[in-house]
Amino acid sequence: MVSSDQPPAVVRRGTNLDRVGGFNDTVVLDAIRRADERLSRVEIAAATGLSGQAISNITRRLLDAGLVREAGRQKSAGLGKPRTLLELEPTGQYAVGVHLDPAVVTTVVLDLTGQVVARRRAETPASDDPDVLIAGIAATVEQVIAEAGAPRERVVGVGIAAPGPIDVERGVVVNPPNLSAWHLVPLRDTLRVLTGLPVLLDKDVTAAASAEKWAGGPNGRGSFVFFYLGTGVGAGLVIGDEVVRGSSSNVGEIGHVMVDPDGPVCFCGRRGCVGETSQPRYLVQQGIHAGVLAKGIDLDDRHAVDVAFAELCDQAAADADLPGGKVARELIAALAERIAKVVEDIANLLDLERVVFGGPHWDQLAPFFDEAVRAALEERFLVRSVHPFAVTGTALGADVGAVGAASLVLDHTFSPNPSVLLLGPAESAPSVVVGSAERLMS
Ligand SMILES: [Zn+2]
Repeated sequence: MVSSDQPPAVVRRGTNLDRVGGFNDTVVLDAIRRADERLSRVEIAAATGLSGQAISNITRRLLDAGLVREAGRQKSAGLGKPRTLLELEPTGQYAVGVHLDPAVVTTVVLDLTGQVVARRRAETPASDDPDVLIAGIAATVEQVIAEAGAPRERVVGVGIAAPGPIDVERGVVVNPPNLSAWHLVPLRDTLRVLTGLPVLLDKDVTAAASAEKWAGGPNGRGSFVFFYLGTGVGAGLVIGDEVVRGSSSNVGEIGHVMVDPDGPVCFCGRRGCVGETSQPRYLVQQGIHAGVLAKGIDLDDRHAVDVAFAELCDQAAADADLPGGKVARELIAALAERIAKVVEDIANLLDLERVVFGGPHWDQLAPFFDEAVRAALEERFLVRSVHPFAVTGTALGADVGAVGAASLVLDHTFSPNPSVLLLGPAESAPSVVVGSAERLMS
């Protein structure tokens, strides 16, 4: 480890997962993945700019590795012989994704096409001991792999999405909110030892953005911000189809952007931070104050706050003429207004095409929230005069973090310029030869 005061030179580090076979192989694999229809070799050559001979060699390697398969033929124009079409072989690789949320742990297995083939959700154990929690995660990983019927040698790794801040370099969860006993927990390496699989650690918001890129359909293309509404708020970024991480993989810490100069004092000492004023606790407090929620709700009781927040959302979604409906709506509209301020700045700064909302609180807000944000952005968004700006919600629901964590692993298989998936110390890093039974543990 470099531990001098000088920042180390910018060197792109390696990863635990060996490449399929270099840059061009990933380009071809990605072209096959992204195509709306199955492609012939001729079409792949046209799409990638590679020569026919190169495509022939590469597709042979991918077929041999079990990552693509032949899928029918296509009549060619004129008198040429029919062209064989290629598609991804779903069973070619599997990746496990774990989303560690302070309230619930979600674990999924994705096949090579990004489909969820097994899933488990469980309440995060009440135990304060990180080792107990990590051992539970390791056991669940084994269970979902078995449920998916995935041959172990084809499981290329485990991605784990955790609340930030994280130390990606060391694979450590630094000090997450609401996991009070977690300080500098070496989550990645512990899970690697327990499962024997390569493990990648990333921030929950970055994983969510990655999920959207992978499985969100048109939502996930181009350049967008994933606005995560959970324990605090965060922003995941995808720019030009690449997941953006920043210098320490902690991109998107927007929780302390000030959106209301008259708002409540945040634990950071300032007033009206977007994170603090987006919490159900704050909305519930406002609802009580406005008389639409019962007095006496214990704001320190997380479950009671969740129930009251759901009630507030129900009132806002119901007929505005009903008692409380109008007031509840105004409270949520004010929340949308605050969040729109942040979205506007991010979108203008980075010239984005859309915001995608998601996270644990999204489902409750979804019926009316994107419309409210759209309305709030209507008057002030600048880039919109040049190109449209879309406001939308994730279609991936509560799995988004776990799917994202698994997609970080698959991302590496497909991306010519993969996400920075850092190794631990080189001498301890295991590696996998993708598509073969060989597993190299050094
Ligand atoms: Zn703050």
